[in-house]
Amino acid sequence: MKLLKMHCLTIEEACLKLLSNKLDRFSVEDSRREILEELRKKVESCRKCPLWRTRKNPVFGEGPVDAEIMLIGLGPGYHENIEGRPFVGAAGKFLDKLLKLAGLDRSEVYITNVMKCYLPENKASEDEIEACTPYLDKQIEVIQPRIIVALGNVATEYLFKKFGLKRQSMGKIHGKIYRVSSLILQAEIIPMYHPASALRNPPLRSVLMEDWRRLGEHLREKSR
Ligand code: SF4
Repeated sequence: MKLLKMHCLTIEEACLKLLSNKLDRFSVEDSRREILEELRKKVESCRKCPLWRTRKNPVFGEGPVDAEIMLIGLGPGYHENIEGRPFVGAAGKFLDKLLKLAGLDRSEVYITNVMKCYLPENKASEDEIEACTPYLDKQIEVIQPRIIVALGNVATEYLFKKFGLKRQSMGKIHGKIYRVSSLILQAEIIPMYHPASALRNPPLRSVLMEDWRRLGEHLREKSR
């Protein structure tokens, strides 16, 4: 009887522990959501650089607040500016195919950009990047992704500088895995060509597709 009681208590304790873990998880998720919503509001009214003048809708980013994988591009283009969502134009359609090659779905990953407002000339100045990247830093800090895929040169340069990695040409580093460990993050950074670059330069298409296939293999190995 005593044994049975002990057994019951253990199960009870285990149930309580499970419940409290679950509640912890929910409260962590809730606070992540809250912080990101506050940040989104700040972006919506941000005038820290001149790009606010040409934005229709800022593009904050989207995806699960606890996503293991975060994709970071350069900034909103014409379609993104209209819809207020990242990667919705032709490059976005290609990105969906690349995600599929890695065995991923858009709904599983968090997608954002270095710059949150429309880039009429598809580039940002150093000052604009400096003004905007505190938002990205906070997103990374809150979401704590295990893998960050840097899409294109600007995102790669920013992340390499942030984590003290030696920058080399995209031709040398694309698809490679760089492990970073800091007080705020332990993750792998994987630089890739930007999907839009393959639309402008078709030979890059197969390079990108191969990199994403290999990313899929890496994810499968990690989950074993
Ligand atoms: S691009 Fe960034 S820093 Fe510039 S106005 Fe938009 S949110 Fe603010």
